[in-house]
Amino acid sequence: MLNELLEYQKLDIELIKLKKEEKNSNSTESVEKINATIKDCQNKILDLEEKSKDLLTSFEKLMEVQKKGLNLVDRYKNLDVENMSEDELKDYESKISQTAKQLTELENRLLSNNQQIKQVVMDYRNYRKQLLDAKDMKEDLKKNSEDKKEQQNPEIENINQKKLELEKLIEKNKLEKYKLMKKDGIFPVLVPLVDKRCGGCRVELSSVALDKLKNDGIGECEQCGRIIYTDKK
Ligand SMILES: [Zn+2]
Repeated sequence: MLNELLEYQKLDIELIKLKKEEKNSNSTESVEKINATIKDCQNKILDLEEKSKDLLTSFEKLMEVQKKGLNLVDRYKNLDVENMSEDELKDYESKISQTAKQLTELENRLLSNNQQIKQVVMDYRNYRKQLLDAKDMKEDLKKNSEDKKEQQNPEIENINQKKLELEKLIEKNKLEKYKLMKKDGIFPVLVPLVDKRCGGCRVELSSVALDKLKNDGIGECEQCGRIIYTDKK
């Protein structure tokens, strides 16, 4: 009877291990992390789309201003400088130099705008790649956990079948006690005697309990109620 109950417990340990593996493979934590990455990338991409629209608008505005400036330069070029008075000439020169300065400034702003557009394109590609990678990772994780489940189901069924077979061979009251304790989280229920102590809670057994254990090969811990056995298995 003891051997069957021990075998029964071994199967339960196997089941616990399998369920733990399944939980690990379908780690909700990593799924949550990936989902956070996906959301983050999507938000960043939306921001970049907004930013690129703004940059395009300012680019168009800058080009407009540049066109006006160049037209102005054209107009200055056609003025008859020969017949200008000294004051007119001074005014003309100051206008030319001011326009030239403005055009240089404009060019710098266009350059900077161009630089920003390049950065946006680069960032966009980067987040796009991160997004696709994260989606792939999520898909893999899902597939892995499905594979694991499929692979484990027959194993779990097999173990449960074996447990049912064993239940027929185990004393009813012992099986009830075992199931109750397991349900209460006291597991393993069957523990070996370790130096006169309960192999579960480590409390030393009374001499009465020890004597009984020596005679029967099976006993009970007075502290935690676990089933204690002496013969090594
Ligand atoms: Zn105990």
